[in-house]
Amino acid sequence: MKENKVYDLIIVGGGPCGLSASVYAGRSGMKTLLLEEYYCGGQILNTYEVKNYPGFESISGPELADRIQNQAKNLGIEIKYEKVIDFDLTQKIKLVKTQKNEYLAKTIILSLGASPRKLGIDREQELTGKGISYCAICDGGFFKGKNVAIVGGGNSAMEDAPYLTNLAQKTYLINRSQRYRAQATLLNHVKALQSQNKITVLENFVVTKLLGDNKLEGIIVKNVITDIESKIDIDGLFIEIGRVPNTDMLKGKIDLDDYGYIKTNGNLMTTCDGVFAGGDVIQKTLRQIVTAGSDGAICATSAFEYLHQNFDEKDI
Ligand SMILES: Cc1cc2nc3c(=O)[nH]c(=O)nc-3n(C[C@H](O)[C@H](O)[C@H](O)COP(=O)(O)OP(=O)(O)OC[C@H]3O[C@@H](n4cnc5c(N)ncnc54)[C@H](O)[C@@H]3O)c2cc1C
Repeated sequence: MKENKVYDLIIVGGGPCGLSASVYAGRSGMKTLLLEEYYCGGQILNTYEVKNYPGFESISGPELADRIQNQAKNLGIEIKYEKVIDFDLTQKIKLVKTQKNEYLAKTIILSLGASPRKLGIDREQELTGKGISYCAICDGGFFKGKNVAIVGGGNSAMEDAPYLTNLAQKTYLINRSQRYRAQATLLNHVKALQSQNKITVLENFVVTKLLGDNKLEGIIVKNVITDIESKIDIDGLFIEIGRVPNTDMLKGKIDLDDYGYIKTNGNLMTTCDGVFAGGDVIQKTLRQIVTAGSDGAICATSAFEYLHQNFDEKDI
């Protein structure tokens, strides 16, 4: 159903960037709609403990998400739980299509975030939810007392490791090289677990095969230096090898870089006038909660300025 109402701003995606944009949009008085596919919070809903968000020595991801969402709601932001499936960005008034409705807006903020990168091996899709997971916080509990492996060498893999060693009987960490792209504190924690024999770290290994009929029963790993393969019996495989931006539906509508990240200028405006973007979905160097929040603030402030420069005051 197409709504005739024209919003000053539609924010697409309710993660830290979209929620923070909502707070700034609410305070500036813009008529704002936030569209979120699942639950507000985005990736931080899967974060057991956030230890690097200023003002909190430690806070759970869901609690932080709740706090920002309540702040936005108290400022009168309208939130609808609908998946956005397409945009028409060619006119001054833009169209946002969801699975249920069509909405009009003078400005748009794209805070679509990112999704887990897949290993890309046979049967990965088929065994997802049957032993393969991309979220230790969501699914770790299913593997209490069982054997699990984590694939990856970045922050997310290092955060999963202590969480899963607490639950599982045996935990492996599989990294394709001896290099890690993780913060020193996280890496040191994993090394400490390794020296206490609480985790087995396999460096220079990749997963080549998934075993099991209706559920995961093991994996074949290959040493990338010797090419020797071995079998590991596990019930759960947690894949944490990075993220890909949720920008498929934007191809051909705004400029993306070679990896699919949205290109923006200093005010976080995309190559389409009146369309702004921030958070994990844009081309940048640090993808964290604090930078997503900062982007959200800049996007909302830039959208406000654009609105006042491009629309009659009486229409705002
Ligand atoms: C396991 C894990 C641990 C992390 N730990 C930390 C940490 O300790 N500290 C830290 O600073 N950062 C951490 N990060 C990174 C941090 O979570 C991200 O940088 C941050 O969440 C990015 O926010 P965002 O709003 O840009 O995107 P996201 O959090 O990805 O939110 C995007 C939102 O958009 C929604 N969406 C996507 N497509 C659509 C659509 N078509 N229609 C409607 N809605 C849509 C999604 O459902 C989602 O809610 C962690 C990430 C992970 C995965």
